[in-house]
Amino acid sequence: MCHRHLTFKTSSLCGHLIFTEGRDVDCQETGCYISSLHPRNCAAISGRARCQCRRYYTRPERVIEQNESLPTKCPGCSSRSTT
Ligand SMILES: [Zn+2]
Ligand SMILES: [Zn+2]
Ligand SMILES: [Zn+2]
Repeated sequence: MCHRHLTFKTSSLCGHLIFTEGRDVDCQETGCYISSLHPRNCAAISGRARCQCRRYYTRPERVIEQNESLPTKCPGCSSRSTT
């Protein structure tokens, strides 16, 4: 199923997670409306009035790159310490 792939790194200053990258993962299934392999004329092929394929993203996949830390504070901490 299609989902978002979210990459986080740890801040070496505050220890919190920092979001670094997000991308869409395509499930490559024809029965998924979001997938790039979903046929444009899906409804016609399946003989339905309209496409009834699923068109939602499942739970995002969070990947934390433990061995790579960033020398900046996370957005939460940096906004709090701008005095
Ligand atoms: Zn999909
Ligand atoms: Zn469809
Ligand atoms: Zn923080």
